[in-house]
Amino acid sequence: SKSFKSSGPDAITMEFYKKFWPLIALRLEGKVAFITGGASGIGECTAKLFARHHARVVVADIQDDKGRALCVALGPAVASYVHCDVTSKSDMERAVDAAVARYGKLDIMFSNAGIMGTTGKGVVDSEKPEIERVMAANVTGAFLAIKHAARVMAPARHGSIVITASNASVIAPTMAGITAHAYLCSKNAVVGLMRSTAAELGRYGIRVNCVSPHGVATPLGMGATGMNEEEMEALLERSANLKGVRLKAEDVAAAVAYLGGDEARYVSGVNLLVDGGFSITKSVV
Ligand code: NAD
Repeated sequence: SKSFKSSGPDAITMEFYKKFWPLIALRLEGKVAFITGGASGIGECTAKLFARHHARVVVADIQDDKGRALCVALGPAVASYVHCDVTSKSDMERAVDAAVARYGKLDIMFSNAGIMGTTGKGVVDSEKPEIERVMAANVTGAFLAIKHAARVMAPARHGSIVITASNASVIAPTMAGITAHAYLCSKNAVVGLMRSTAAELGRYGIRVNCVSPHGVATPLGMGATGMNEEEMEALLERSANLKGVRLKAEDVAAAVAYLGGDEARYVSGVNLLVDGGFSITKSVV
């Protein structure tokens, strides 16, 4: 109970939370947040952080058992689960309406669900259905999340939408000379979607931003590298620009808390990189 348990081995200590508790509590208290891809990884960690700081969260995912178990653990008063395939217009519409019916409003939409798709194949060997599958989950999913969040936020004249992009939206990381081009394409696209909707929705008091992490050892991250958690952590440590600190899902959740909450009330149209400076570095030796 000394540490805030998360998926990673070196979970952030309570000391960190004691230090930042007053600020984070102010940001999130009383807010209602909808989190897509909330059953695992970054979304799960964000749901825990938000619930711990007195927001109410709706966890939306297709991993029903995992999502339900998380909400039971967080407590029925603060968290509820809804099945929502983000590629489905009717699922998203119904899930957002259910969230508003349950909690009376929607303050924060965290559009975070995403997939990596097949990795390790060059562009010549990649197939059209695979590109379409990744674009549907990552881009159409974000579009539907923004659309339905804006539908209920606009009449309330306020709201904050945060989309998980990736530092692959500003660089093209390679493994053995090959990029995950469907994924890169999708993450560049969501930044474009963020910019266009930030420009359009400002008139309703709605802010739209992206958070762009570097690698985190989640099921998605490990699936992409074909590594187990230990191997991926070691790779990230070796390749990191910022030494002595390992990027955890908690760091991404903290950025979402900032962008989602009122401290960022004049921040819109931003792609916030949480990658320890990785994307601005290129070793020349
Ligand atoms: P994860 O696999 O732990 O979580 C992703 C969640 O999204 C899962 O619970 C999954 O069930 C859900 N999901 C997938 N498709 C869905 C759909 N169609 N409808 C609803 N839910 C769906 O992975 P994660 O690393 O936490 O990924 C979260 C986001 O972070 C993704 O958008 C990913 O692209 C992004 N990201 C991850 C990393 C990393 O290294 N882990 C780096 C940069 C960006």
